[in-house]
Amino acid sequence: MKLTSVSEVRAIMERHGLHFNKGYGQNFLINEAVPKRIAETCGASAEDGILEIGPGIGTLTRELLARYRKVVAVEIDATLLPALRETTADFDQFTLIHADILKVDLPALMAEHFAGMKVTVCANLPYYITTPILMGLLESGCSFDNITVMIQKEVALRLCAKPGEADYGAVTASVARYGRVSRLFTVSAGSFLPAPKVDSAVIRIALDPVRRYTVTDEALMTRVIRGAFAQRRKTLVNSLASEFGELNKERLTEAVTSCGFSADVRGEKLGIPEFAALTDAIAAHISPKLF
Ligand code: SAM
Repeated sequence: MKLTSVSEVRAIMERHGLHFNKGYGQNFLINEAVPKRIAETCGASAEDGILEIGPGIGTLTRELLARYRKVVAVEIDATLLPALRETTADFDQFTLIHADILKVDLPALMAEHFAGMKVTVCANLPYYITTPILMGLLESGCSFDNITVMIQKEVALRLCAKPGEADYGAVTASVARYGRVSRLFTVSAGSFLPAPKVDSAVIRIALDPVRRYTVTDEALMTRVIRGAFAQRRKTLVNSLASEFGELNKERLTEAVTSCGFSADVRGEKLGIPEFAALTDAIAAHISPKLF
C-alpha cells in the first residue's frame, strides 16, 4: 500500500465516496519522503506512544504504526473513518477516536490509552486551527514528551522567533512558556494533495519538564502577554493599558520600570523570564479584589 501515490489516494477516496473537505484543512501528503521523515524524526523511541491529530486517510499514521508501540489518532471527519480502518487494518496497536481534538478531554484520553507510557504528539495539523490545537495541548497539563507537528511555514517562523525579531509575537511567547521550539525541516506545497497555497514546516516543541520561570499568577501572565502585544506599534505601557483598564498609566509605568525596563520599551523585546517578572510587578499593583 503506497498512500503517497496520487492514483492510490484517488482510488481510496473514490472507493469510499470521499471528497477533500477544505473546511477541515484536508491536504493529504503525497511526497513519500515526508511522512517517513516526520515519523523518524519525531523524537519518540520504539516503546513510546504516539498521539496523532487528523490522520486523514492514514498516510503518516502508517509510518508511525510501523515504528512505535501504540498510536491513538483523533479524526473529526466521520466520512474518513472507513478508509482509515482499511489503511490501518494490518496493524493491531492502533486506536481511532472520532472527535474534534479541540473538545477532547486530553488528560482522560492519556489516562485511558497511554497509562505508564511516554507520549509524543506527532501530526500534520489542520492549519485553520494550528494555534488552538497547540495551546490546547500545552495548557492541558498532560506531560507529552514532545510535540512534533507540521504547520504552515509562516506560523513556524513566528513560533521560532526570538525576542526583538519581527516575527516574535503573542503566540511565540505563549508557546515559549511551555518549552523550546525548533524548526526541523520545510516542506513544499507540492508535497500535498490538493496543494495548499503556502509552504509548510515541521517543528518540535520540546516541553520543559519543569517550568523555567516562577510567577505568582499564571492567568495574570496570560493577560500580560496578551496586553503586551495588543498594540504592537505602541510602547509596552500603552499596549498594556488596553488590557489593564483597572490600572492607570502611572502604575503600569511603575511596574514596567521596577523590572529594570525603560518606560518606552516595546513588548516584543521581552522574553519569558521578563514577562514573569513583569507579571509579579503588575500583581503587586493590582488590588486582589479586582480578580
Ligand atoms: N495526516 C494526514 C496527512 O498527513 O496526509 C492528513 C492531514 S490534513 C492536513 C488534517 C487532518 O485533520 C484532516 O484529516 C482533517 O479532517 C483533520 N481535522 C481537521 N480538524 C480537526 C479537528 N478539529 N479534530 C481532529 N481532526 C481534525
